[in-house]
Amino acid sequence: MTNTPDYQQVFQEVAAHLKNVDDCGKVASYIPELSKIDPNKLGIHLTTTKQEHYAFGDYDETFSIQSIAKVFSLTLALKIVGKDMWNRVGVEPSGSPFNSLVQLEYEKGIPRNPFINAGAIVVCDILVSHLHNPKHDLLEFIRSSSGLAHINYSPKLVESEKNTGYRNYAVANFMKDFGNIHNDVETVLDLYFHLCSIEMSCKDLTQAFLFLAAGGVNPITNNTIISRERTKRINSIMLMCGFYDEAGEFAFKTGLPGKSGVGGGIVAVHPGEFCIAVWSPKLNSRGNSYMGMRLLEAITTKTKSSIF
Ligand code: GLU
Repeated sequence: MTNTPDYQQVFQEVAAHLKNVDDCGKVASYIPELSKIDPNKLGIHLTTTKQEHYAFGDYDETFSIQSIAKVFSLTLALKIVGKDMWNRVGVEPSGSPFNSLVQLEYEKGIPRNPFINAGAIVVCDILVSHLHNPKHDLLEFIRSSSGLAHINYSPKLVESEKNTGYRNYAVANFMKDFGNIHNDVETVLDLYFHLCSIEMSCKDLTQAFLFLAAGGVNPITNNTIISRERTKRINSIMLMCGFYDEAGEFAFKTGLPGKSGVGGGIVAVHPGEFCIAVWSPKLNSRGNSYMGMRLLEAITTKTKSSIF
């Protein structure tokens, strides 16, 4: 039997070491509201499947989780439509930027995976088709599955994204033309922008995504969120597609499935062991947290945590 690593000690060592490294990233500014964040924030939180907690820095401060929320929408849509989902969206890495239009043209409006913007917009379309009150029902699913009743949308972020989301409008309209958006584009994007606006802390994130480390059951609430088989599928898509055109790099560096967001957050899962979330707002050129990637690489290397 292996001993649990002293994560607390490791967080301190890694953060102290990275203090001397230049953070070459830049806070996202294409969504104006995101540019207001203090670029020096840094949080780490890890929760084990046995419910032990390890924390560092700004771990308890909420921030915009952006695309990390696409894991919630995928989970809910999979529960509702099951494998029919895969007629509308693929499970292959895109190898292209998160908001790219290029592949959609020659792949006839079927997005490569549910985590690029196009794929998440199709997932939102599925939710709009099946939920009575999509914004309310999606939020209730996230609150009840995580056991965190305070999770909410940020109206300011929704506004900010609506006012500047030209590419998302283009992507949605393009897919509508191919017949892969069934509802009104405005309604679908309204749900998509709400999804991206969700605010959570690193601590909240590790609690909310612990089910992916525990075969589909949230060990904190004892709720079964989704079957073990679908948990496998979600983790696999995270491993292959969670970081846009940098998915290979993240898997190579950490050996864990994960998902990032342009708010600077990253969640990673070690099935059977733990869920870890890091937050550092400055992004690299691929839209992933510059320091967050480095933190996770160092932490997983030092603690020898990997699924491989
Ligand atoms: N709301 C962002 C967008 O649609 C999400 C991008 C991300 O976090 O990767 O551009």
